[in-house]
Amino acid sequence: MVSRVIPVDPFDLVIFGATGDLARRKILPALFRRFCAGQMEGGSRVIGAARSDLDRAAFHEVVRSAIAEFVTDGRNDPATTEAFLETVDYVTLDARGDTGWDALAARIDPDRVRAFYFSVGPSLFGDLALRLHRHGMAAGKARIVVEKPFGRDLATAQALNATLAQHFREDQIYRIDHYLGKETVQNLMAIRFGNMLFEPLWNSQYVDHIQFTVAETVGVAGREEYYDRAGALRDMVQNHMMQLLCLIAMEPPAKFEPSAVRDEKLKVIRALDPVKPQDIVRGQYLPDDDKPGYLEHVGDPTSTTESFVALRAHVSNWRWAGTPFYLRTGKRLKARTSEIAVVFKDAPHSIFGAEAGRHRNILTIVLQPNEGIELGVTIKEPGPGGMRLIDVPLDMSFAEALGPESGMVADAYERLIMDVVRGNQTLFMRGDEVEAAWAWTDPIIAGWEERGEAPLPYDSGSSGPVEALALMHKDGRRWREIRK
Ligand code: NAP
Repeated sequence: MVSRVIPVDPFDLVIFGATGDLARRKILPALFRRFCAGQMEGGSRVIGAARSDLDRAAFHEVVRSAIAEFVTDGRNDPATTEAFLETVDYVTLDARGDTGWDALAARIDPDRVRAFYFSVGPSLFGDLALRLHRHGMAAGKARIVVEKPFGRDLATAQALNATLAQHFREDQIYRIDHYLGKETVQNLMAIRFGNMLFEPLWNSQYVDHIQFTVAETVGVAGREEYYDRAGALRDMVQNHMMQLLCLIAMEPPAKFEPSAVRDEKLKVIRALDPVKPQDIVRGQYLPDDDKPGYLEHVGDPTSTTESFVALRAHVSNWRWAGTPFYLRTGKRLKARTSEIAVVFKDAPHSIFGAEAGRHRNILTIVLQPNEGIELGVTIKEPGPGGMRLIDVPLDMSFAEALGPESGMVADAYERLIMDVVRGNQTLFMRGDEVEAAWAWTDPIIAGWEERGEAPLPYDSGSSGPVEALALMHKDGRRWREIRK
C-alpha cells in the first residue's frame, strides 16, 4: 500500500544552514523524497543559504552527495537527482550581516508560501528573524521553522519567544520536534481517538502505570560540547519525551486541529507535579574495554552532566491521579529503542486460580527502530492439560501491515516540512507549551545544582544505574527489558 500524496501549491523553501549536518542528513533528503512523490510540482523551489561561498553548481554537489548517502530506498537514481537539482538554488549570506539578503529576497516569490528553515545554531535564530523582517520577507505567507534546542531554561525560552514575536506571529512559527512527525506517534492518536476500544480504559482506574523509554547505544561523540551543556533532561525529556507524555495523557481534543490539540497538551504539562529528588535518578556512562566513558568523551573529569535520567512523574488531574508515569532515557545503553508501554491493571479476580499466574495487558507503542504498535493479550496455552495462560502479542508492525511499499512511507521530516507548507501547526509546539515544559524541568536542574548532586556511574551496554531500577522496584513494578 503506497501512501496517498496530497498535492500542495508551489512553495519556496529556504534552508538556513544548508551546508550543515542536519540539512544534509534530514532536510535535503526529505525534500528529495517529496519531490519523488510529486509534491514539488508547479515550480516549487529549494534555496540553500549559509556563509560558505558556493555557487549553484558547488551547492548541487553538496545536495548530490547528501542524496547519495542518505536516500537509501532506491529512489536516488541520477536522472531523478538531476531533475530535483533543477529546483535547487543557493545564496551566500551571513545571519549576522546584511550582505546576501537582498539576493535572497530577489529569488523568492512574495506571493507564494515561503518557509524558512532555521537549521543553524540557536544563537542565530534571533538574527535570522530580524533580517528576514528587515529585508521584507517576514510578511504574508512566510513561515519559519525553528529547530531544537528552544532555549536552555525558562528564561532563555521566554527571551527567544519574545524575539521571534517581534518579527513573526505565533501562527507563522513552527517549533519542530521530529518525534511528533513519526508515523507511530500520530497512530497513537488514531488508536486513542479513532477506536472505541481504548479510550474508556485510558485512565487511572484501568491503567497501572505508563513507561517511556528512549535508549541509545551511541555516546556523545561528535556532540560533546552541546551535550555537556545540556544533559539528558534538557536534550530529551523537556522536549521529545514531554511531547509523548502529553499525547498519551491529554484529554480528547474536540477536533484534530492545532489550537485544540495544543491546548490539551498544555493542560497536561501544567498538571505535572514537581518532581521530588527521590523520584529522579541521573547517570553517566563509564568507559568499557575499547570505548571512552562520558568524562573522557567531553574531556572534563569534573563534568556533572547526566547522560542518563530516569524519573517518576505524576499528572495531577481527574483522569490520572494515582497512575505514575515513568520516563527514562540515556546514551550507551544496551540497545537502541524508543517505546511507550501502557501497562493495564491486573484483572480484578483470577477465575483460573493462583497457578495461572499474573497476567496483564500491555499496549506498546514502538517508535524505533521498527515503528509499530503491539497489544499483549492473555490466552490459553495450546494443548491439553488444563488451563495454562500465556501472554501473546497482537502485533501491528507497520512494515508488515503496509507491505513491501512501507519503505515509501514519509519519514518525520518529510511530513513535518509538508505540514509547514500547508500551514498546519498541529504537530508543532506552541510557545506557551515550550515555556511550560521548561517551568517543570528548571526546578529539577536547580535542585541538582543546589544539592551539588553528581550523576551515578553506569556500565556501557547496561540499562543504566541500578538505582534507576530501584525507582520502580520500590513501587512494586519493573522496567521493561531494553530490547532491539
Ligand atoms: P552544523 O552542522 O554546525 O551546521 C550549521 C550550519 O549553519 C552550516 O550550514 C553553517 O554553514 C551555517 N552557519 C553557521 N553560522 C552561520 C551564519 N552566521 N550565517 C549563516 N549560516 C551560518 O549544525 P547542525 O548539526 O546541522 O544543526 C543545525 C541546527 O539543528 C542546530 O540548531 C541544532 O541544534 C539543530 N539540530 C541538529 C540535529 C542534528 O542531527 N544535526 C538534530 C536536532 C537538532 P557556514 O559555516 O557555511 O555558514
